Amino acid sequence: MALENLRDLFLEQLKDIYDAEHRITKALPKMARDATSEELSTAFESHLDQTKEHVVRLERVFRIVGESPSKKTCKATVGLLQEGEELMNEEAPDSVKDAALIAAAQKVEHYEMATYGCLRDWAQLLGLGEAAELFQDTLDEERETDKRLTEIAQSLNVEAIDGEAEDLEDEGEEAPRAEHRSVAPARRIGTAARSTPSRTKARVR
Ligand code: FE
Ligand code: FE
Repeated sequence: MALENLRDLFLEQLKDIYDAEHRITKALPKMARDATSEELSTAFESHLDQTKEHVVRLERVFRIVGESPSKKTCKATVGLLQEGEELMNEEAPDSVKDAALIAAAQKVEHYEMATYGCLRDWAQLLGLGEAAELFQDTLDEERETDKRLTEIAQSLNVEAIDGEAEDLEDEGEEAPRAEHRSVAPARRIGTAARSTPSRTKARVR
């Protein structure tokens, strides 16, 4: 497909993100199931609701520009989701898996944020004010999700430092390295990190 002007590029990227949002809609329920932290699982579930709305907003944009909604395979999202999937298939303690899930999800959010930022700016240049507002609404939600994931990571990732040992402690078994509780984590981001991360989700498997 030849891209002759900004409108062509706009449509190409619109189809790309429309495909991406569908893929994310399919991936999020599994991510919510895979998460062992209740908080993380809930975050994925609420982002699933938002993502469904993102699809609806994109369909409104297609209507605004007089095109019927269509997808163009978003190779980036395919790759990002596949990488996340591969990590989840690795043998790892729950805390490490949750850390991997957060990282995978944040990579997807950042990809979406970049795309929506461009689409919003291009919509403004093309005189599509209503579309620009719709993109801004979605961009705000992607940013909020990214921020929420960072906050969850600040508490959960502390557990992943000792991985297996932390899992055993949760199950009430003698941990091989229990002394770490008295040691401050080497790299704690920010000052608001919660001291007792919750890993209360019942395992469904
Ligand atoms: Fe989205
Ligand atoms: Fe998203």
